[in-house]
Amino acid sequence: MARILVVEDEPGIALALEDDLTMEGHQVQVASDGPSGAKAAREARFDLIVLDVMLPGKDGFEVCRELRRAGVRTPILMFTARTQEAEKVLGLELGADDYVTKPFGVRELRARVMALLRRSQAAGAERVLRFGETEVDFDRAEVRRGLETWTLTQTEFKLLELFARSRGRILTRDQLVEGAWGASTFVTDRVVDNHIGNLRRKIEPDPDEPRFLLNVRGLGYRFDG
Ligand code: CA
Repeated sequence: MARILVVEDEPGIALALEDDLTMEGHQVQVASDGPSGAKAAREARFDLIVLDVMLPGKDGFEVCRELRRAGVRTPILMFTARTQEAEKVLGLELGADDYVTKPFGVRELRARVMALLRRSQAAGAERVLRFGETEVDFDRAEVRRGLETWTLTQTEFKLLELFARSRGRILTRDQLVEGAWGASTFVTDRVVDNHIGNLRRKIEPDPDEPRFLLNVRGLGYRFDG
């Protein structure tokens, strides 16, 4: 199952896509104009973005350019309205991964979606974690966001690995200590919190208002990336 964002203003097409992709077992979110599509793509993690070129507010090219500039690397499948080579080339230059020409057949679209998902899943095997505009490269122990790069300390690396494996689940401080320091190590809550604070400074756009690494009062922390 993949999370797919469909940015399409024509309700008929959006609905048909949503139905078809949902039937295939995917989780689909629809945005009906450029700005809301760009916002959705930056705020949540998707495995694929299906992006129409002709959109109100901001066209698909602009959305694509904006997302790539912001460091969002989610695969993008673009709809071009015509079979114009120029449009296709422009889309690919701006960072789209593939395109489908309208009008398209459901079967063709499905095949393109599957191909892109396979590609991105293969890329996922390189151990890159993406959420919002943040990208964590576990092979290099690096965090990248926009043009900035941070190196993870060993403890931060272990903590983040733990959180990545437990997305959406609360981890108690004891579980974090056991996973990152070892079960027989004595580490105070305060030390755990300090490391979480350091990690937030690397992975959160605004460390004072965390969006991904959340404190669950009295229980521990939860990673919602
Ligand atoms: Ca359109």
